[in-house]
Amino acid sequence: METIAPFKEVVDEIKEAGGDIFKLCFQCGLCDVVCPWNRVRQFSMRKLIREAAFGLTEIDGEDLWRCTTCGTCPQQCPRGVKQIDVAMSLRRVASEYEVFPASVRSARTARASIISEGNPLQGERDKRAEWAKDLPVKPFEEGMEILYFVGCYLSYDPRMKKVAIATANILNAAGVNFGILGAKENCCGESIRKTGSEEVFKNLARENIKAFIDNGVKRILVSSPHCYHTFKNEYPEFMVSFDVIHISQFLLELISAGRLEIKGKYERTVTYHDPCYLGRHNDVFDQPREILNRIPGLELVEMRDTRRASLCCGGGGGRIWMDTPIGERFSDLRLQQAKDVSAQVLATACPYCITNFEESRLNLEYDDILEIKDLTEIVQEVI
Ligand code: SF4
Ligand code: SF4
Repeated sequence: METIAPFKEVVDEIKEAGGDIFKLCFQCGLCDVVCPWNRVRQFSMRKLIREAAFGLTEIDGEDLWRCTTCGTCPQQCPRGVKQIDVAMSLRRVASEYEVFPASVRSARTARASIISEGNPLQGERDKRAEWAKDLPVKPFEEGMEILYFVGCYLSYDPRMKKVAIATANILNAAGVNFGILGAKENCCGESIRKTGSEEVFKNLARENIKAFIDNGVKRILVSSPHCYHTFKNEYPEFMVSFDVIHISQFLLELISAGRLEIKGKYERTVTYHDPCYLGRHNDVFDQPREILNRIPGLELVEMRDTRRASLCCGGGGGRIWMDTPIGERFSDLRLQQAKDVSAQVLATACPYCITNFEESRLNLEYDDILEIKDLTEIVQEVI
C-alpha cells in the first residue's frame, strides 16, 4: 500500500486540489447505500472521504478510480458533501504523483491521445469529419442556425458513427441550416477532467471556446450528455456562455414546431435509459420520453431504477476508458432490467451508455432479445 506522508501534507494537497469539503461528512453512510457499486462489489465513498480527511488515502488503490460520477450519492447526502469533487481531488493528487493501478492505465492512453489528437480514441485529428464524407454536411459558417458539435465517440467509434449519420439525416430532413467544425473540434474534456487531468481539460476548453468564438457560433447542438454538461455548467468558468441544446431537446423542438414530421410506425416495445449526465445532472427526463410517446406503434415501458434513480451504465468519470471485470458491470444489470420488462429495444441518448450496453449485449448473449438504439436511430426510421 502506498500512502503519501506526512499526513498533514496530504490533507493540504487534497485541500489544494479542491477536496476541502470532505470535512462536512459525518459518516452516516447514506452514500454507500445508494452507490451502484454496492450492487456488484464492495465500495465505500464514506470510507474514502474518512481516509482523505486524515491524509490516509491509498493513492495506488483501485477505489480512488471507482466513482463513475453518476450523481446518485450527492443528491442523498444530508450534509451537502460533493462526493464527486472529493473523488476528483484525490485523482488529481494521484495524477500528480503519476501513481495508477493497472485497470486505470488505459485511461492514460486516452489522455495521451486527447493531448496529441484531440480525442481519446486514437483517431487522427484530420479524420474527425470522415463519418460525414458521403453526406450533405457543411463546415460551420457564421450565420448558420446551429453548430452540430459531434463529439469524439460519434466522430470515430464505428458503432457511434451510425448515430452521427442518423443525426445529420434528421437535421437535413427538417431543413436545419447546420454545420460542423471538423478537425477544429476538440474533445469537450468533461471525462478527462473527472480523471484528475485538470490542465488537459482547461486546454481543451480554451481551444473549443476559441473555435466557437472565431467561427461566430451562438447555438450548439450536442449528441453527448457529457458535452452538454461541460458546455453548459463548466465552460462558464471561462467567463463565456453559449446556448447549448442536447439532441433530445432539439428533436422535440423540431417536432413541436412542425419542422420534423413523424410519418412511419415503430411497432416495438421500447424502454428508455436516462443517462446520468442528461437526467440526474441536468434534469432532462421528459423530452426523450415525449419523443418516443409521439411515435405511432411504439409502446414505452419503464424499467426499475428510472429517471432520477436511473442506474448508471458505468461509463462516467473516465470509467469508459478503464477495465471493469465481468460481474462488476452496471450495464449488465441494466440490460437484465430491460429484459425484465420485456423490452425489445433499450433506447438511450449517450455514447458511453450505448458503448457499454452494446458490450453487455454481446457478453450476455442478448443479441436475439434486445436491440440498443440511440433516440436518433429510432426517429430516423419513422420520418
Ligand atoms: S452521505 Fe454525505 S455525510 Fe453521509 S457518509 Fe456520505 S458523504 Fe458523508
Ligand atoms: S457519484 Fe455515483 S458512483 Fe460515485 S460514489 Fe456516488 S453513487 Fe457511487
